[in-house]
Amino acid sequence: MAAAKPLSAFVDGERLWARHMALAAFGARPDGGVDRPALSGEEAKARAQIVAWGRAIGLQPFTDQAANLFLRLEGREPGLPPVVAGSHIDSQPTGGRFDGVFGVLAALEMAEAIVACGKRPLHPVEIVAWTNEEGSRFAPGMTGSDLFTGGKELAEVLAIRDADGVSIGDAVAAVLASDDDVPLRPFGLPIHAYIEPHIEQASVLERAKVPIGIVTGIQGTRRYRVRVTGEAAHAGTALRKDRRDAVMATARMICAMDDAALEPADTLLTVGMLQVTPNAPSIVPAEAYFSVDLRHLNNAVVDRVDGEIRRIVDDLKGPCSVELRQIQHSPSLDFSPDIRRTITKAAAALGVPAMEVYSAAGHDARQLHYVCPAGMIFVPCRGGISHNPDEWAEPEHLTSGARVLADAVWTLASQEDGSSG
Ligand SMILES: [Zn+2]
Repeated sequence: MAAAKPLSAFVDGERLWARHMALAAFGARPDGGVDRPALSGEEAKARAQIVAWGRAIGLQPFTDQAANLFLRLEGREPGLPPVVAGSHIDSQPTGGRFDGVFGVLAALEMAEAIVACGKRPLHPVEIVAWTNEEGSRFAPGMTGSDLFTGGKELAEVLAIRDADGVSIGDAVAAVLASDDDVPLRPFGLPIHAYIEPHIEQASVLERAKVPIGIVTGIQGTRRYRVRVTGEAAHAGTALRKDRRDAVMATARMICAMDDAALEPADTLLTVGMLQVTPNAPSIVPAEAYFSVDLRHLNNAVVDRVDGEIRRIVDDLKGPCSVELRQIQHSPSLDFSPDIRRTITKAAAALGVPAMEVYSAAGHDARQLHYVCPAGMIFVPCRGGISHNPDEWAEPEHLTSGARVLADAVWTLASQEDGSSG
């Protein structure tokens, strides 16, 4: 920037930290964690707080039919597409104070810095909080960024229901009704560049003692739901040859899937959910319903294990019937080299150590990657612990992340042409 000081000089680390603690009050758990489901009353309160902070420095809030929240600061050329930064404010039921929140608050701090520096970049900048990133109340997650980028149909997403039967459509309507005069915008506005700051949720940075991760890409994921249907029978009288035991068939399938994912060693296969019906000790189970989460950086590995999983459920179902449904397929991706270079340069200019890392977890930046140059900044989290009340990030690392974001956004928002180089 033309001023003697870079934008990062106006980032206030104490305010950034205080806001993390303030936002953690919405959905606070007694153990210090956060339980703030997507589109819940607690999330609506956190959202109102963010709108209030934004309005206090002249940002204009917008929302859309997915209840994504945007806060806009005009640039010198309002017709230009904005540089957007942010993440999400929903949490897992056993969530922490930093997952998602850091991205939104770092972006807000970037806007605070622009207002404080007294200058405006060429492009507008926007802060975003995407709806339902986590997917724990409404599965699958990332429905807000999916709708914004055209990855899913509105009607299909609005019909998704939580465990109590509440639809996303009804929950979105409630949140929009609670908004204080926040105008609706259409999905899919052009974006000049997108950066998502986030805690790493792994311990590569911590072990390397490096505060900034320049994220190279996101590993591929496939997620499934498997329903194995047998028949309930008396545990004492039903003969083995007559049984259609859904859990025994499921156990065979899960063991075989685990074997299929042994190579290469960094292939990750998780069965994190298993529901048994009727779930009674003396009844041969009539039904088992379970999840499979498969991840690897190399799409060929994911695709090979996918084929194995489909073969396994068919081969091992025995006398039961089986229904396998793939609920998500996200190939591995590489983030924009231009965004990665911009973040690298910003960290180097600040003298903040940085290294390249890849993201093992999915983020909204995946969806944005398909519509604009996108990238991510990671900061360390203690022990790599996340989705856990013990989630912790050091204040100085959050400040470094916000400072790198501020200078990277300033560079991108100052670009004259349509490129992001
Ligand atoms: Zn997150």
